Amino acid sequence: MIPVEKAREIILSAMPVLPAERVPIHDALGRFLAEDIISTLHIPPFDNSAMDGYAVRTADVSSAGTTLEVSEVVPAGAFPCRPLEPGRAVKIMTGAPIPQGADAVVRREDTVEAKGRVRIQKVPDRHENIRFQGEDIPAGQRVLSAGQRLGAAQIGVLASLRRPFVMVGQRPVVAVLATGDEVVDLGEQAPEQAIVSSNSYTLISLIRETGGTPVYLGIARDQHSDLKARLSWACRADLILTSGGVSMGDYDMVREIMQKDGNSLAFWTVDMKPGKPVAFGTLMGIPTIGLPGNPVSTMTSFYQFARPALLAMQGARNILLPRVRASLSEALKNRSDRPHYIRGILERVGDELTVRPTGPQGSGILTSMAKGNCFMVLPRGMVDLERGTMVECEVFGSELAF
Ligand code: AMP
Ligand code: MG
Repeated sequence: MIPVEKAREIILSAMPVLPAERVPIHDALGRFLAEDIISTLHIPPFDNSAMDGYAVRTADVSSAGTTLEVSEVVPAGAFPCRPLEPGRAVKIMTGAPIPQGADAVVRREDTVEAKGRVRIQKVPDRHENIRFQGEDIPAGQRVLSAGQRLGAAQIGVLASLRRPFVMVGQRPVVAVLATGDEVVDLGEQAPEQAIVSSNSYTLISLIRETGGTPVYLGIARDQHSDLKARLSWACRADLILTSGGVSMGDYDMVREIMQKDGNSLAFWTVDMKPGKPVAFGTLMGIPTIGLPGNPVSTMTSFYQFARPALLAMQGARNILLPRVRASLSEALKNRSDRPHYIRGILERVGDELTVRPTGPQGSGILTSMAKGNCFMVLPRGMVDLERGTMVECEVFGSELAF
């Protein structure tokens, strides 16, 4: 049995960063940048008005009530015809270029215009309401860096920089195989007592959530022949994930297959609860994580091992679940022979981040994952914590009641 960190290290050392690919930016949401983005442009490209109003020389407006002749009107999208002369003002719209000589814009609300003249009701500060060339992004600056996840704002920045395409890490293709004689798929003719393969669906969803492309290989019976036949369909995958068949039972054959026929087993069993019987190795030369079959163990070990592996293959910079410390909102007693990943509900109460367990914590209680948004990571042994104790939480839920 090896510690979680060691297991993760072994898995990550076997994960290549996949080659980058070029995608249109409207398809780049959630992808990971495979290049640094250096601006070749100034954003904004020229000094422009932040308001609808009048461009003036502040030297001309030393007191409220000054009137100036309006020499020109500049809509957004147009350019001023001539520099601003002393004693005059240019009527200007938001986004329009500042005429040469002007050093402030007075908001329309602070003026009265009549008969070709404008009365300035409020003395402007120098540079007021001017957005300067390059104040957001100067040319030559690194704006985004490799490994960063592209969200809406980053994609908007790429568009501003006139980049319709971007290089991102390839999506890993991940084969998913469920196992078990008692497990059936949705839509199958099956007795009432059969267990529906919820792992197939949690894993496919987790892979998608992490940027991978799942390839579903169905459910293998607990027989070498069926396991091997289905696994052979994974021969072009970047990673194989199996569920079940890695425990101590007579019919747990996934690990056996990893130990034969040129395959390999790097480790089996990790010091964690739930999720202990994780196996890692290769099948047909493809890195393979054998996840335990219990639905919570499957998900917990996915988050600890498969998620960082998928992110690393895409060249992501942050590959671990975000960690926060939160105050227990109820007393907690726990005994475990391994570090315990208790599913918790993290929420903001007033100014405080609080956490409490979701309820029963069996490794078959999938609703503990569905109710929860974090793992409270508790050390092995007897733990007796009072309300208000700070505990370490790894956040997996995207819907946080912060
Ligand atoms: P195993 O690791 O194969 O011994 O399975 C452990 C437990 O997980 C058993 O109770 C199985 O019924 C359950 N299980 C295994 N595979 C799945 C699956 N694909 N979906 C839901 N539960 C499963
Ligand atoms: Mg099984």
